Amino acid sequence: MYDEEYIEKTLKAGEIVNRVLRDLPRMVKPGVKVFDLCEKIENLIIEGGGKPAFPCNISINNIAAHYTAFPEDQSIIPDDAVVKVDIGAHFDGYIVDAATTISFNSKYDDMVEASRIALKNALKVIKPGVRVSTVSKEIERTISGFGYKPISNLTGHMLKRYILHGGKNIPNVYGEYPWIMEEGEIYAIEPFATDGIGSVTEMQQAYIYSLAKVHSGRTRLEKELLRYIYDNFKTLPFCERWLKNFNVKQENIREIIYRLVENGALNIYPVLREVKNGIVTQFETTVIVSKEGPIITTEI
Ligand code: MN
Ligand code: MN
Repeated sequence: MYDEEYIEKTLKAGEIVNRVLRDLPRMVKPGVKVFDLCEKIENLIIEGGGKPAFPCNISINNIAAHYTAFPEDQSIIPDDAVVKVDIGAHFDGYIVDAATTISFNSKYDDMVEASRIALKNALKVIKPGVRVSTVSKEIERTISGFGYKPISNLTGHMLKRYILHGGKNIPNVYGEYPWIMEEGEIYAIEPFATDGIGSVTEMQQAYIYSLAKVHSGRTRLEKELLRYIYDNFKTLPFCERWLKNFNVKQENIREIIYRLVENGALNIYPVLREVKNGIVTQFETTVIVSKEGPIITTEI
């Protein structure tokens, strides 16, 4: 079960992500363009020797997840924003998925703390044989203790090589879940706290996709694009910004993408907002389950 190589590669991905996380307070400021921030973060991952495992997510205020800049995106970080930055890097397919919240409104300091401490408390109970229910209970208990709601329909998840959601989930609310954490497994744990209703809903906008069926293109361009996606990202999530070297005009790429989503060749991940537009905070790290406790890949 224990394989030195994948642990080493996961830790390497962790170092890359950790360096970016440490740089974030200098980079994330009101007035900064979200597009520039996404590109900068993804470039830092590449300079660090890894590859982005998914487009950098910059989710502001009531947006919980899945926002990444689109090519013409002019949006900036607003004053008083609560900014979630969710970063993934992989090294030879071994993924580290981690997130932090940077708040420019002291009113939400407590909510930032709620999700951070929930993550810390969750890690304390992780060991081989622990029930996922136990981990979820820690998250819910901690966030409720701060007077906030955990988001019930966003979960942590198992990671496998080149696979971001590897079967078992780690919900942020208690329930009788069937899963047990086993030695050597890798998990992303990600508590979300909110002053809203504790649930997210899909928005109309969507900027993140992943490959579902590589051989389903109908036209030459569709086939070429699917091949390009497979060669560069495999089945990991990607966004339009990452297709700029695919030799087709921006408007046309978008059209092809929409057709491929329609015929089921691509998965689409709509932006997720809190149902009652509550403010959302999030912390996340990736751990390897070991007898000595979780091997934590990034600082919290
Ligand atoms: Mn994440
Ligand atoms: Mn995750």
